[in-house]
This record gives sequence, C-alpha cells and structure tokens, in this order.
Amino acid sequence: MARKAGTELIKDQLTDDQDKKKKYYNKNVQFFKLIEKIKLWPSRAGVLHGVKSIEVNGKIAVVTTHCGEKFTVWNSRNSRSARWLRNKWCASTCNKCKIPQWKIKKYSSTMMTQKWGSNL
Ligand SMILES: [Zn+2]
Repeated sequence: MARKAGTELIKDQLTDDQDKKKKYYNKNVQFFKLIEKIKLWPSRAGVLHGVKSIEVNGKIAVVTTHCGEKFTVWNSRNSRSARWLRNKWCASTCNKCKIPQWKIKKYSSTMMTQKWGSNL
C-alpha cells in the first residue's frame, strides 16, 4: 500500500518537472545519455551488465539489461551508478549479458580521459 502511494507521488512530480522545468530536464539528461551511449550498467553487486534498452521518463529511467534485469535509475551525476561508471568500481562483468570485449575496452578508455560528459 505505502509503496504504491510512493510510486504515484513520483509520477506526479515527474509530470510537473516536464511541464515547468525543461531547462533543468535537459541538463540532467546527460547521465542517461551516457548510459545510452556506452550501453553498460553497473549493478549494486558490482557486476557490469550490458544495456538492452533505456526508457527515459523525466528524471528517472528504466534500464533493461541483456540478461533480463530491470533497474530504475535516478538521473544524478552523484548517484552510485554514475560514480561507479566514472571510477570503474565494477568487479566483474555479467556472464549472461555477454558484453563484447571491445565494448569494455572502449568504456575503459573513454572513462580514463576524465572528460565526463563532454563528448556526448
Ligand atoms: Zn547481465
């Protein structure tokens, strides 16, 4: 019950943001753009997944991985996922997602330039 109420509250806020704060929304979409581009997602367990699709809805996005997992993501450069992606804290890659080596390499080299967000 309480959980459902919370979900509805978030939806209402998103609608407001989309109507009133377009500038803010554009600025914040950067992190999602990055996910869309590199197609990699770090799970809470420190496993790097391949992203099958990302559905952006205002400040949140639903990331679907190749192994069938779904993550709801808040758009924040300071979130756990953003930090993990920047610092490459992921311990391993997901076997089921079968992320190609070149993708991992590209991700590593991209993040090493320290130019977070500048090439999107
Ligand atoms: Zn996976």
